[in-house]
Amino acid sequence: MNFTNAEELLKICKEQKISISSAMIKREMHIGEVRQEEVMQKMTHAYQIMKDAIYKSLTEDIKSIGGLIGGEAVKINKRIINGKPVCGQIIAKAIAYAMGVLEINGSMGLIVAAPTAGSSGVIPGVFVAVQEEFGCSDDEMVDVLFNAGAVGYLITRNATVSGAEGGCQAEVGSASAMAASAVTQLMGGNPEECLSAASTAIMNILGLVCDPIAGLVEVPCHKRNAMGASNALISAEISLSGIVNIIPFDEVVDAMYKVGRSLPRELRETALGGIAATPTACKMCIK
Ligand code: SF4
Repeated sequence: MNFTNAEELLKICKEQKISISSAMIKREMHIGEVRQEEVMQKMTHAYQIMKDAIYKSLTEDIKSIGGLIGGEAVKINKRIINGKPVCGQIIAKAIAYAMGVLEINGSMGLIVAAPTAGSSGVIPGVFVAVQEEFGCSDDEMVDVLFNAGAVGYLITRNATVSGAEGGCQAEVGSASAMAASAVTQLMGGNPEECLSAASTAIMNILGLVCDPIAGLVEVPCHKRNAMGASNALISAEISLSGIVNIIPFDEVVDAMYKVGRSLPRELRETALGGIAATPTACKMCIK
């Protein structure tokens, strides 16, 4: 069993009356010629790495190699514990955890590139925040990681998840779409609603450029992961409310790819434009 675009995936889900996660698990078993237990074990391991990265970022003194980030997740977490987070518990947690994982990435710690290292905070941030808030089990979270995987696979296959190729919309936008679709399934959404949430997430970030200061995956990446996490929750909420994204997922992915390819090279990870080219960012590079 295989699928190459969202239309085919939805057809499989409809015909077999299965979730996107189940379709992806079947695909993994088919392509890798492995048993279901093996597929599940690998994903369980990936989720554990994500959770460990968050824990480490909140309990250890983290400083990135480039020195631009480190310790911010702890600050946000303190506000969650001691104050009244302005965006509510779940979004505050999602952004703290997402930024924490980026801090681990920036300090060369272990993360899961889902889909890339630069966007590695979005899925863990959203997943662990949702798990804590709704009391979901690890098995439930691992199951919907396959949903996220299906969305990431489709974007990789038909467009790109690389900032160097398609801008930050392709990196953080894809991670946000993956998380949005997964959370939609977790909360009882059907496959159409999952992909509608994913489409909304990409559409909301369309055009976002890739402009890392000094070429380091630190700033603005760190805060963009926070934004990607909150965008995923927003997109899931919209879809679960029965609001359909009028442009289908495959067309949104195609539009994202075309926008990415039309971005000038200065705005595709070269650190020659955007925030990376501001006077203050340039001074940091000289130091
Ligand atoms: S700005 Fe560029 S390097 Fe940073 S997260 Fe976005 S795509 Fe990745």
